[in-house]
Amino acid sequence: MPKLTDALAGFAVTFGAMFRKKTTEFYPEQVKGKEGGPRISPRFHGRHQLNRHPDGLEKCVGCELCAWACPADAIYVEGADNDDLAGERFSPGERYGRVYQINYLRCIFCGLCIEACPTRALTMTHEFELADSSRENLIFTKAELLAPLLENMVEAPHPMYPGTTEQDYYAGKVTGADPSLFRPREEGSAQ
Ligand code: SF4
Ligand code: SF4
Repeated sequence: MPKLTDALAGFAVTFGAMFRKKTTEFYPEQVKGKEGGPRISPRFHGRHQLNRHPDGLEKCVGCELCAWACPADAIYVEGADNDDLAGERFSPGERYGRVYQINYLRCIFCGLCIEACPTRALTMTHEFELADSSRENLIFTKAELLAPLLENMVEAPHPMYPGTTEQDYYAGKVTGADPSLFRPREEGSAQ
């Protein structure tokens, strides 16, 4: 039979908890990291993003190091050669990631892939709302993982900035796309 002191000790724990700071979060009304929601930890591991250089070319060079580093076998990469003659340049240098997939049914968000990436092409965002009722939808393709185009960027494929080398891209000497790549706006066009 339990002693009275044991029972009192148990009640003391309960009583003490009544005065602790509340940690209730009003999800999904308030989402962490979004406007009005609680702050998210700066180093939180959310879904991945494939980054671009400032002119819109892709940072991924299709080396597959991320796939080899992944303990869950969640990444699939197929590299290919850039080909200026055929107008198929997607990244500075020799190779680019032609196929890129991350399977979020397998990913454990450990971040080993982003540590392995030699070009900082792969990073992790704060987005964590990844639930879905379809297994297919949880295999993210390159189109879904690629970072959006920002100002001064032009969608690949396109040539490297005139007069630059691959090293110039990594030295931060390219700060935007070649102005001749921006197509003049057509009359009546929405863009
Ligand atoms: S975060 Fe970890 S488990 Fe997920 S893809 Fe990267 S290495 Fe694999
Ligand atoms: S994301 Fe990085 S590590 Fe993975 S294939 Fe591309 S360049 Fe290589």
